[in-house]
Amino acid sequence: MKLDRPIVILHLEDSPADSQLVQAMLKKAKVEFEYFFVDNEETYISYLDNQKIDIILSDYHLPDYNGTEALLYAKNKFPHIPFVFVSGTMGEDVAIESLLNGATDYVLKNRMERLGSAVLRAYNEAQAEKARMNAEKALLQSEENFKRSISESPLGIRIVSIDGHTIYVNKAFLDIYEFRSLAEFNNTPAKNRYTPECYIQHQERKAKRKNGQDVFEYELSIVRSNGDIRHVKVSRKEILWNRVKHFQVINMDITDQKKLTFDLIAAKERAEESDRLKSAFLANISHEIRTPMNGILGFAELLKENDLSSELQQEYIGIIETSGARLLNIINEIVDISKIESGQMKVSKSQTNVNEQIDYLFQFFKTEATERKLEISVKKSLPNKEAILLTDREKLLSILTNLVKNAIKYTDLGFIEFGYIPVQTLNEKSLQFFVKDTGIGIPAHRQEAIFERFIQADIVDKMARQGAGLGLAISKAYVEMLGGKIWVESKEGKGSTFYFTIPN
Ligand code: ADP
Repeated sequence: MKLDRPIVILHLEDSPADSQLVQAMLKKAKVEFEYFFVDNEETYISYLDNQKIDIILSDYHLPDYNGTEALLYAKNKFPHIPFVFVSGTMGEDVAIESLLNGATDYVLKNRMERLGSAVLRAYNEAQAEKARMNAEKALLQSEENFKRSISESPLGIRIVSIDGHTIYVNKAFLDIYEFRSLAEFNNTPAKNRYTPECYIQHQERKAKRKNGQDVFEYELSIVRSNGDIRHVKVSRKEILWNRVKHFQVINMDITDQKKLTFDLIAAKERAEESDRLKSAFLANISHEIRTPMNGILGFAELLKENDLSSELQQEYIGIIETSGARLLNIINEIVDISKIESGQMKVSKSQTNVNEQIDYLFQFFKTEATERKLEISVKKSLPNKEAILLTDREKLLSILTNLVKNAIKYTDLGFIEFGYIPVQTLNEKSLQFFVKDTGIGIPAHRQEAIFERFIQADIVDKMARQGAGLGLAISKAYVEMLGGKIWVESKEGKGSTFYFTIPN
């Protein structure tokens, strides 16, 4: 047999002649070797400790040392080096005892022809054992590596038996749920681990699996013990665990990615919405400005005609005046809404006598209401001395003006009443203003939308009533700036009452 390198032999022997004989016999058996000859304990130990010895040959009887001690030393320190006795006399009992003590073999000096094969066999067996041990070590190491890569993986890993029992979870998995142990996980019913919707989906998946349709990719919304909800992406795969079919369930916490995606979608929608609103805003503005402008230019053109009666002249001038006023009103509203939206509208509070404001508005609108054959009245629930509010007087006046103007505009018959009553909630005193009319009313499904800019209720004769749909949006923004709320109660064909509160 061809070896990669010579076998390194340490021979413990007191007789140089026997040493010669051993070497000759090995050569004869075609064993390639390197040879160290020692005849006492000290050199024996020194060679063993300092050289890489492959095999020890030893006499049994030595003058100052003996084979048994040499064997014990070697087995103790270098258990993998084969030890073969080469001895002249060796009773069977001694031979057996030596083998029990760990000797690999023994060769009697009168049967030296066995030496070559004994040495080769001992050497090969030792090499095979070394290889086996190295393989075992490598296997243990790779097992350890794999175990680590699973237990320390940043992904949550769970091993589930075919009957649905969780037999292993790694640390990342416990961290996702904030559980301390596998037992705690197993003892927590699925109902408590998932959100109600997620629990229903869990039940559905279970039912599907029963019918042989497994689901391998899904998302979970789990509830931690402190109530936090986390979103988890799950992939399930069949594997062999201890050679038995199991499932490896990988869990990845995607809560942060989900939130990011959600925020991005919301931001995109907001941007699109704002873009859409901007276009609508511009379209509305140009329409609202062009309409009275056409009126002004058209009737100015008509006024140029020479044979116009003085009544017609007055009528056209009247139309031009109304259109001019309407144009100014629209421009004012556009300026206001732009200021509100760009955050430039400031609140400036001062002591305001509410009764005075109501009286002023009453005087202001009395003529217009009477002209339209509408009764108009006010309700002031506090005496003048007590009707004081710290608020932005201009904005309060503007809100009330808008609402009363609308009440007159959208009422053909009946009356308008406006005013306020003091109200008190648990932690706040405020004045609740109202503007009531017996007009056309607002369909229920439009009662919220009318507070948005450019939105008008579904009214039939839009042109006759004229308006840009900005008044209520401005009023709502003002009420909120002053810390109050605005709402409407209305019935189609019966009338509307607008309410708003201003904290005291
Ligand atoms: P507009 O300039 O169109 O009047 P507003 O923002 O003031 O704009 O009002 C929005 C819409 O709400 C109006 O177009 C109208 O359809 C409806 N509305 C407002 N006030 C009343 C009211 N008192 N009665 C009936 N409808 C009203």
